[in-house]
Amino acid sequence: MILKSNYHTHTYRCKHAGGQDRDYVEAAIAAGITTLGFSDHSPMVFNTDHKSGFRMDLEETAGYFESLLALREEYRDVIRILIGVEVEYYPACWEKYLAFMRQFPLDFKILGQHFVYDEENGGPGSFKATEDPTVLSDYYRCVLEAADTGELLYIAHPDVIHYVGDTAAFDELTRDFLQKIKKTGLPLEINRLGVHEGRHYPNPRFWDLVAEADVPAIVGLDAHSPKVFEDDEGAAACVEIAKSRGIRLLETLI
Ligand SMILES: [Zn+2]
Ligand SMILES: [Zn+2]
Repeated sequence: MILKSNYHTHTYRCKHAGGQDRDYVEAAIAAGITTLGFSDHSPMVFNTDHKSGFRMDLEETAGYFESLLALREEYRDVIRILIGVEVEYYPACWEKYLAFMRQFPLDFKILGQHFVYDEENGGPGSFKATEDPTVLSDYYRCVLEAADTGELLYIAHPDVIHYVGDTAAFDELTRDFLQKIKKTGLPLEINRLGVHEGRHYPNPRFWDLVAEADVPAIVGLDAHSPKVFEDDEGAAACVEIAKSRGIRLLETLI
């Protein structure tokens, strides 16, 4: 594996990833990874009885830390294990969320904004194709507000928003977003899962504009299976997205 660090690793607790925690550690070691950051879809403290189907439950949080702390200790001479989460910025429950997570020894948070501002009341979902530039600008504003909390390590798949409308509007809103995100110093993630599954991201035009704005990037494996650590081709394709455009690629953040 050409990467030495990966901060985007899921576990079975999110209900759509396979393998045991130990399997990810073993696979990362075999791939030559030296810093392994777990970042499962964070538990969220919702205001309603909404139950998310794609994240760990609140009740699973203690077990997540218990398991990963034990692995960190067991493998301490072999690999550095960090315990993070992939969080969403939902302002209506953000403070409650932070208070909940303060109970745990969390090393980092990456932002994966799958819904614009709000999940429990239904959206809009970032994956849903839209021609409406308002959804794009709301998404960017949401990500910038999240970045401004000072709680994040980086922005996972910043180009997850599935905008298919007017390209001039895309360029204008994206340029504005990039100028603002640049001030926060947060790197943007080139996402291997999107490459692997042929999703609408990584979005080539978005990364052209990242190069133009000179915002740093990082490759994230977004591992939902231990096998992903064998995906040299996917990781190389992500590196190439940066290299071919002259984007600054960061490797080890913490
Ligand atoms: Zn996932
Ligand atoms: Zn992820």
